[in-house]
Amino acid sequence: MRIVVAGGGLIGTCFALEAHARGADVVLVEATGLHAEASTAGAGILGAEAEAVTGAHGSAEAVAAREAMFAWLPHLEAATGLSARAARRGTLVRCSSEEEAQRYARWCAREAPSGRLLSPAEVRELQPSLAPCPFGALLFEEDGALEPARLGSAVSAALRSTRVEVRCGARVSAVLMDGSRAVGLTLEDGSHVGGDAVVVAAGAWSAELVRPLGLEDELHPLRGQLLELRPSRGELRPVLFEGKRYIVPRGDGRYVVGSTMERVGFDKRTTEEAREELRAFAARVVPAFEGAEVGAHWCGLRPFRAAGPRVGATPVPGLFTSFGHGRNGILFCRKSALDLAASLAL
Ligand SMILES: Cc1cc2nc3c(=O)[nH]c(=O)nc-3n(C[C@H](O)[C@H](O)[C@H](O)COP(=O)(O)OP(=O)(O)OC[C@H]3O[C@@H](n4cnc5c(N)ncnc54)[C@H](O)[C@@H]3O)c2cc1C
Repeated sequence: MRIVVAGGGLIGTCFALEAHARGADVVLVEATGLHAEASTAGAGILGAEAEAVTGAHGSAEAVAAREAMFAWLPHLEAATGLSARAARRGTLVRCSSEEEAQRYARWCAREAPSGRLLSPAEVRELQPSLAPCPFGALLFEEDGALEPARLGSAVSAALRSTRVEVRCGARVSAVLMDGSRAVGLTLEDGSHVGGDAVVVAAGAWSAELVRPLGLEDELHPLRGQLLELRPSRGELRPVLFEGKRYIVPRGDGRYVVGSTMERVGFDKRTTEEAREELRAFAARVVPAFEGAEVGAHWCGLRPFRAAGPRVGATPVPGLFTSFGHGRNGILFCRKSALDLAASLAL
């Protein structure tokens, strides 16, 4: 089977690898460079349970996604010699009120028995650098994090060692149709790439490709800004969450602080306001981070869909999609590749 994929972010590339491993001929078409958009802008949290408790997705599928990543990454590293530096460093979710602590504890008992509510004293003992947590915090020890740029490099290297045809700098302008069936992609230069199956995995830009076929009016870009801090004092081991904000330790003195959730279309500019807000957040939850050196400030566009990712077949014969992963596309990139390969019966 020949499969053509539009989009070379982690969702498209991880699927291309899996489809190739299952014997398909794959052509991947990417408008700019591999992993040049949201996939390497991300913080890299594999926060299956921490994100589930705050309502981003169901916990069972997210835990399956996290475990699929941790099972796959050693193979990727063995094949390429490149590590994504993934670690199960745990996630710690600060409770902001007694009511929230009780609600989270009930959720844990129901959905995530591996999570537990720590008292304020237990939080202090675990992480002395944290500002007091008067309502305690939830700890999920199995959650983790990785470095997205390193994951992108490893996946790119793995792709280079396959017969997957990667065409970078080629923008898809439309899905090519033969009657009611999708049969390939039309590129901006007017050329066509044909296939037995067409996969749209173009992140936040996917709607432009499937909307003319009467699909998808929910997907929109959601800008997220991140800040890298290099504090000279204070230390954090787990990923710390407070609501939608977080601090991710890289394990080498760098910390990534995020993130904003802004509906500003395809605008990829960073703002002074977000920089100050993220710095203030970090200094409030880890007082020793006050005045820390800022290493970098960047942003990316999450492919956001309130109903969650759209992965699998569509009503258009021959057309498949994998987009809409919002805040958790790095966590889900392996599982979505497996799910999509299964729906293509590969
Ligand atoms: C600030 C921020 C923090 C994040 N933190 C995390 C995190 O901690 N954990 C986590 O799991 N997830 C995180 N995410 C989410 C995650 O990064 C995304 O869900 C994921 O990267 C989406 O991957 P994708 O391949 O669908 O999209 P993208 O990575 O955006 O890739 C889409 C690709 O399609 C290409 N493309 C677009 N249009 C066309 C076209 N017409 N023709 C050809 N190619 C096209 C683009 O150039 C791009 O390369 C974060 C995202 C952001 C922005």
